[in-house]
Amino acid sequence: MTTKVTVTGTGTPLATHDRAGAGVLVRYIAPDGSETHLQFDAGRSTVPRLLAAESSPAKLSALFLTHYHSDHVVGVQDLVLSHWTMDVYDDASRLPIVAPNGSTIRFCERMLELWDDDLEVRALHNLREPKPKIDIIGFDTPDAPTEVWASGDVRVIAGQVRHEPIIGAVGYRVETPDGVVAISGDTQVCDEVAALAQGADIVVYEAMRMDVIAERPVDKQYIMHYHADTRMIGRQMAELNVPRLMLTHLIPAPSTDAARQAFVDEVRDGGYLGEVLVCDDLDTLELA
Ligand SMILES: [Zn+2]
Ligand SMILES: [Zn+2]
Repeated sequence: MTTKVTVTGTGTPLATHDRAGAGVLVRYIAPDGSETHLQFDAGRSTVPRLLAAESSPAKLSALFLTHYHSDHVVGVQDLVLSHWTMDVYDDASRLPIVAPNGSTIRFCERMLELWDDDLEVRALHNLREPKPKIDIIGFDTPDAPTEVWASGDVRVIAGQVRHEPIIGAVGYRVETPDGVVAISGDTQVCDEVAALAQGADIVVYEAMRMDVIAERPVDKQYIMHYHADTRMIGRQMAELNVPRLMLTHLIPAPSTDAARQAFVDEVRDGGYLGEVLVCDDLDTLELA
């Protein structure tokens, strides 16, 4: 029995060659060997990262979305179309896509319109239903953490986070018999994230180095207002006594050891003493 947390993408809207777009894969392997694979967000290049992690669109039990910013959803079409084509070989079961109502659900409902002709001609060619096997499941962004999906021993809880001007963005909390994993999504450090991360064994937190952003010209500093400052992350995670922290959605993306260390140093400045991983794509922690 084990639960594995893999960051499938550590990037942001600013593309780099080595970081896929936002995504986290949580896998629970039950005592009988059955596996539950849950993907949170699907930014660019999520599908190849899932395969590299020995998962697959066809193996996912559900996909959860945090909000509709393109860096979190631009890979959803690829994932859904891959799920449909892989079904021929892997007998993929229906894929629930669970997301907050509003613009994120509207994106899901419209995303396949562009592919009507492609799906139809492929379906005629190999005698299949010209529709991906997905179920779009919306929920109203809750004021307090609320269960939005469950299967067997695994529960997924959503809670609102603070990513204005995006309204209704959420983070998630996954509970398995091995423990609790919280995923911040895109957010400022706020009480709402604390509610999701209470008692968590691992928190996957987006992270931004405020000092670096503050050096930018004033008209390039707007992202300060809706991302998580490294020192405040450190303070919050220390207060909550979270033992292990995975930093992702790294702003600015570090490409040297010194730049990675700067993220760690700033989280330590905030008072955090636990384990900190400044993630690269596919970094994985395990709960047993
Ligand atoms: Zn965002
Ligand atoms: Zn983002």
